[in-house]
Amino acid sequence: MSHFSYRNGSLHAESVSLDSLARQYGTPLYVYSKAALVENFSAYANACKQSGRDDSTALVCYSVKSNSNLAVLNLLGKLGSGFDIVSGGELLRVIAAGGDPRRVIFSGVGKGRDEMRLALEHDILCFNVESIPELHRLNEVAGEVGKRARVSLRVNPNVDAKTHPYISTGLKENKFGVAYEDALDCYRTAASLPHIEVVGIDCHIGSQLLDDAPLLEALDKVIELIDQLAAENIHLHHLDIGGGIGITYDDEKPVPVGDYLGRLFARVDAWRKEKYAGKAIKVMFEPGRSIVGNAGVLITEVQYLKHGETKNFAVVDAAMNDLMRPALYEAWHGVKTVREQSGTAQVYDVVGPVCESGDWLARSRSLAIEPGALLALMSAGAYGMTMASNYNTRGRAAEVLVDGDRVHLIRRRETPAELFALESIVS
Ligand SMILES: *Cc1c(COP(=O)(O)O)cnc(C)c1O
Repeated sequence: MSHFSYRNGSLHAESVSLDSLARQYGTPLYVYSKAALVENFSAYANACKQSGRDDSTALVCYSVKSNSNLAVLNLLGKLGSGFDIVSGGELLRVIAAGGDPRRVIFSGVGKGRDEMRLALEHDILCFNVESIPELHRLNEVAGEVGKRARVSLRVNPNVDAKTHPYISTGLKENKFGVAYEDALDCYRTAASLPHIEVVGIDCHIGSQLLDDAPLLEALDKVIELIDQLAAENIHLHHLDIGGGIGITYDDEKPVPVGDYLGRLFARVDAWRKEKYAGKAIKVMFEPGRSIVGNAGVLITEVQYLKHGETKNFAVVDAAMNDLMRPALYEAWHGVKTVREQSGTAQVYDVVGPVCESGDWLARSRSLAIEPGALLALMSAGAYGMTMASNYNTRGRAAEVLVDGDRVHLIRRRETPAELFALESIVS
């Protein structure tokens, strides 16, 4: 169910009109629905519960990079979420949001020594290691701080996620993970290192997957490796299948999370029963987009309408620095008028004020608008604000969280002075 819908001719987030939010907080403005966040997280949590799993046998680690606002992290943490981070900064965010570092897993191909040290000091659950050199560095750093690092190797199962090349990560030519053929050797190395404790295996094959077949194919390959490792007396305690389930931006029909998890758990259970006398293995997930993507919109105000010979442009006050996905991946976002449309529509490209031809948010949309009209860019909760920049010395948008009829400002708008406060003139 969408928590963004028209009531009395005006688009609402839950019970609050976006019109009133724009008036109070200005534009561009990110608006999130708490009910949507809870509902999306619960789809994972409930499927785990329904399969008979508890905290010790299933863990959902929300992918912090998809939306890292403290209020979002705090809410998900309270719902029982763990966290998948990709930097030391994200770990500090999780802690600042009240999240439990012992439910944190650390992904990413370029972990620095300081980041490793920080994560070890906070006793995180697991490092998802992506290469042999990283393994050696982690062993060294763990030795320095007198700890053993819990490690999972990110294997690249070489399955085609059939998604956009920029968000496909499980093929041989990607920079992520260790090649499937090299995985056994990597595990042998890992098992031989004194400050490394091998605990799991992970993969993440891509993002915005609509079908779960590639994920189940990856699962089969992960299972095969776990069996081969067991034969060498390397026993893993968890498998982590990554994130990647897609959302509806336009007319996509992604597999429902509950269906996917049901099929995945059925396979895992059948395999454990057959080969391990039913002994459970902990199953982990790293969803981002499927939890926050459709829980947020970006509101923007039309500044000017330009009617050209071949194209009409609606110049709005949001830009590629606020929502980078169209410029980066040619991503499609729905555009809705905040006041329900009436009058004659024209076809517009919705563009921002940034000095780049790539600064567009939506193309060829039929809109009945005047300057001053408010537009909502839909499905902007994931990889929206987290990718925002200050290009053109534009302060980043404010963010609000709506909960029923209540509104919480969860990040205020940046001021121009803040944008250059860290800089100094050389005399
Ligand atoms: C980005 C990322 C995720 C989240 O992907 P979604 O498509 O947003 O679910 C999970 N795991 C890793 C390692 C990632 O890099």
